[in-house]
Formats: sequence, structure tokens, C-alpha cells
Amino acid sequence: MNDKELLVKAIYFGKSALEWKKKFTGLLPEIHKRELYKQKGCGSIFEFAAKFGGLSNDQVRLALKLEEKFTEMPKLHEALVNGEVSINKLARVVSIATPENDLELSEIVKNMSKSAVETFVRDEKFTGLPGQELSLNEEVRSRLVELQEKGIDINEIISAALNKREEEIAEEKGMPVEETKSRYRSTKIEKLVAKEHGTKCSIPTCKKPSEVIHHTQTFAISHSHNPNYLAPLCKEHHEIAHAINLKVRAKRLKNFW
Ligand SMILES: [Zn+2]
Ligand SMILES: [Zn+2]
Repeated sequence: MNDKELLVKAIYFGKSALEWKKKFTGLLPEIHKRELYKQKGCGSIFEFAAKFGGLSNDQVRLALKLEEKFTEMPKLHEALVNGEVSINKLARVVSIATPENDLELSEIVKNMSKSAVETFVRDEKFTGLPGQELSLNEEVRSRLVELQEKGIDINEIISAALNKREEEIAEEKGMPVEETKSRYRSTKIEKLVAKEHGTKCSIPTCKKPSEVIHHTQTFAISHSHNPNYLAPLCKEHHEIAHAINLKVRAKRLKNFW
């Protein structure tokens, strides 16, 4: 066997093992309920799972707990007992799962990577931006203090500067954008996106660096790099943007885009 064949074989077996392990794990809650492990001479479901599937007690405990939590959520329950989704990924959504979002969450755990699911759940739990310390440099700070000492409203001055910035961006974004077949964006557009969004992911709950400029209107349809429809995103939010169907996304992220 050459190196390539050896690797291909190992990865194939590894992936298959994970698939079968999920299916085995999904059957455990029912075997536990019917006490079928006794028929194989095992004293408990834990002994049965370790002996026939090599599962740790923690994994078994998690599978049983999830099965119970998903009693009222048929789609997530199905994903668990059919072994479609790993218990580790299902455990990520259990804290936000309700009968109302059961269907949506079941699609999400089936279609997204574990890290994207984690990010999605964090966004769902998000209740407000934490208070941030401003990192004013000495010069700006002392100039502001000086103005404040004179009885000048510094908030008004800062507001005016921020408004001016927003107007500039709006004006630049309002300029006509030509259609193009090229995925290459002009430096002008790159600069404008950076001016508006900075260096981080444009989802307000997210502090990660942006890695991709995402087209909120599919490029293949729009043929345009209109900056109104460009959003810098981190890897996870980019995956979420593509995985969630447009209708759900529009509803959920209407405040974000
Ligand atoms: Zn994209
Ligand atoms: Zn992000």
C-alpha cells in the first residue's frame, strides 16, 4: 500500500466508525427503557454501551439526558435516535431548544459544523453588547477634557463627527455600481467596506476578525459588488449565512444586516 492509499483507507474507516457510533448511541435510550441490556448479561446500560460500542459513561449519560430533554421536540429527537447528528453537536443546542424552534434547529444541526452551531447558539442567547472601555489616546482625551472644562458639550461634538462619518459612507455607498463578471473588487469598494465595518465580523454580537466578504445578494445573480450588499464575516457567521434559508435569515438577522 502506498502512502496515499493508506491515508484514504484510514480516513474512510475513521469516518465510517464515527457514523456507526452515532447510530449506536442513538439506540441506547430505547435499549435502556426496555432494559434489553440485561439480555446480554450486562448490569446496566453503561456496561452494555462500553462493551458493544466502546462508549464512555459520560457519553451514555449525555445521550440519555438529551433523549429526555427532546421529548417535546420530535425533530431533534429523531435526529438523535436515528443517529443523524452526534450527541456533542446536539448538546450545543439543548439550552435553546423549544417545541417552536424544533424544526429549525434540527435543520441547523444537520447542516452546520460544530463551531458554526456554537456561534449560532451564542447569537440566540445574546441580550446586549457589554459595556466597552473606550481606548482614547492621551492627546484626544486631553483635548476633550479641555473642551469640557470650557463648558462645551463634548457629546455634541462627538455626535457631529460620527454623523458626518455616516453621511460620507452613505453617500459613497449611494454611487452607482457597475455590473461585472469578475469576482475582483476594486480597491475603492474594499476601502469603503473597511471604512464602514472595520476589521471585525459585521455581526454585532461577534468580536472575531472578518475572514470573508460575503455577498448578502448572491453574486451569481446580482453580478455586482454593490457595497450595500457586502458584509465582512468571520468563518462561522459565513457558514451560518449560507446554511440558514433566506426566509429565516431575513427574519432573524433583520437588525444585523
Ligand atoms: Zn458568502
Ligand atoms: Zn462572526
